Amino acid sequence: MNHMDRKRVRAICALSLCIGASLSHASPPTDPARMVEDFDAQVAARDSGARLRRPAAQPSDSSLRLVERLNSQVLLSDGRDATIWEVNDGGREGFAIRAGDTLSVSVAEEDGLHVTGYTRGSRRVDHNTIPNAPEQFMPEYKDDTVETGDQQGDQTDSQDGKPPEVRVAALVHDDVELSDEAILAAQFTRWIKHMETEVMPEGKVYVELRRRVAGVTDFTYGYDRALYDWRDAVTKILSPQEPFGYVRHLLLVNGKHVEPGAAGYAFLKGYSGMASVAYSSDVAAHEIGHMLGGVHERAAQREAGLLQSCVTTMWKEAGRRVPCYTYSVGNTALIREYHHLPPL
Ligand SMILES: [Zn+2]
Repeated sequence: MNHMDRKRVRAICALSLCIGASLSHASPPTDPARMVEDFDAQVAARDSGARLRRPAAQPSDSSLRLVERLNSQVLLSDGRDATIWEVNDGGREGFAIRAGDTLSVSVAEEDGLHVTGYTRGSRRVDHNTIPNAPEQFMPEYKDDTVETGDQQGDQTDSQDGKPPEVRVAALVHDDVELSDEAILAAQFTRWIKHMETEVMPEGKVYVELRRRVAGVTDFTYGYDRALYDWRDAVTKILSPQEPFGYVRHLLLVNGKHVEPGAAGYAFLKGYSGMASVAYSSDVAAHEIGHMLGGVHERAAQREAGLLQSCVTTMWKEAGRRVPCYTYSVGNTALIREYHHLPPL
């Protein structure tokens, strides 16, 4: 091997190491069948104050660390309770969803959200990439709120001195092929963390995913005023008081537009909304934001590192701009006001 060849080999090695590092969560461990147990062992070790580093077969996997367990309650469409952990995967922030015999780890990469799924006792590893919204897909909202319709006397679950609660029933349209875990990772985990830590730290968030509800998840959408028909359809079958108190019904669809030109639509301070989950973005959080009192006028642009800025979740047209995945200070204040909470 001459000097040039060696140099080339070194360059190739460096490149493959680089790929290995950037996709560390996607690299299957020597025994993927043990991933769920290893994760649970790390959770147990954390409770006993031991080191968080998970015993792993590959160096790339050993970097998966638990950061914090989210307090919210999440129910999957098959009835399993899910716990969500903020994790650190090789230095990058991600989330792990643990439910029954499965573990799902998601990390945001440049091309989208990478979701890796493991099942206890199985060597199969599921990889899923949910692409970022491309420029031609403008998560446009236009005037995606209707002021009247399904307000119920400003009913929130924060009365009687009880801790405030936000309950969302995410009704997954029959045309959505994403798994529950992928939907949670793409649309809900960052929002849940933000709600818990920065919007309503004294409260609790409940998210329930539901599928195959006849007359609801087979709803035809995509036309003007579809939101009204959706509200009528869902309230005929599911009461806003069910299954566990006042619930915001959010229809999640595979199509890019729930009404012409709008990626989402919702009643302001209401109980019915629709959101596209075609891409990894914050359309669901935007529509829930409206249902909790958030408005476009209070959205803001923020610095997001050197020479980069991001727009907060209630920004009217999020396309071509980096999402911050947080509500602005102004919208956080509105959401708290709606829940009768003092300013933070
Ligand atoms: Zn909007």
